[in-house]
Amino acid sequence: DSQYRLERVLIIGLGLIGGSLAKALKTRACVGEVVGADRSPDECRLGLQLGVIDRIAEDLSAEVAQADLIVLAVPVKAMEAVLEQIRPYLRMQTLVTDVGSTKGNLVQAARRIFGHLPGTFIPGHPIAGAEKSGVRASDADLFEHHKVILTPLPETDSNATLELARLWQTVGAEVLQMEVGRHDEVLAATSHLPHLLAFSLVDTLAREEENLDIFRYAAGGFRDFTRIAASDPTMWHDICVANREAILSQIDRYTAGVARLRGAIEQGDSEGMLGIFTRAKAAREHFT
Ligand code: NAD
Repeated sequence: DSQYRLERVLIIGLGLIGGSLAKALKTRACVGEVVGADRSPDECRLGLQLGVIDRIAEDLSAEVAQADLIVLAVPVKAMEAVLEQIRPYLRMQTLVTDVGSTKGNLVQAARRIFGHLPGTFIPGHPIAGAEKSGVRASDADLFEHHKVILTPLPETDSNATLELARLWQTVGAEVLQMEVGRHDEVLAATSHLPHLLAFSLVDTLAREEENLDIFRYAAGGFRDFTRIAASDPTMWHDICVANREAILSQIDRYTAGVARLRGAIEQGDSEGMLGIFTRAKAAREHFT
């Protein structure tokens, strides 16, 4: 909807995701002004220089009090501190959302900080990213044709959810809604587990010095499978801490699956091996 417009958006955390959203909103001219805040003055200055934001938030409390929408785009671990920081200045009607990779921890923190959650608080998660971080890597088209999951709570005002959904749609995203716990389980399986497997595989191979050499012989399969092992270590540490239970149960499921495959190989069980490969191939082809 090209008519959609918000006057003032405050983005806290001007990294890859916050910067990309800022750029996307400015490119599509659907907000009056994009104001950026980051604990790193360098990222702020760079954001301004690159035209990612219109203005740097010099006085965060004043900006919070004047914003129509506040987007928390800081690392998962920093969400709680930022919520605490903005709470005293928040107006009733201001929409508050985030882009964090995990949702349960954020909602728990928000309940602790706000007591009763404001109807304008709508957690969110864009399923789009890159192995790069920082405002320099921001990309106005990052969310184009990607999904954004909103996890409204029982307290959330449905108009607030609709308004936020429209904003994401204007930057090209497809918006879905999911319950908080379901989000964390689904993402543990589809995003967190594959990242951890990629990290673990590359680490296992690289650990042995003489193996560093074998990467030279690695072809497309290895490259595809391990691309995400170049992701930000701190971000993945935070995600493991925040979504511990769901991640542990996905690792257990996966470990049992590998053990079944190992058993089939060990026994020379062709039917078992072919069963796994055939089912996986069909499932993989189904979703592309
Ligand atoms: P990033 O490292 O590129 O950016 C994070 C920014 O937040 C940095 O500029 C940092 O200086 C700033 N920051 C940290 N603590 C702060 C604080 N207390 N106050 C103000 N600013 C602070 O990270 P990113 O990739 O943009 O990730 C941001 C969020 O988006 C994370 O919660 C992450 O889980 C989520 N996310 C990331 C991806 C991805 O692929 N990178 C995808 C979806 C969601």
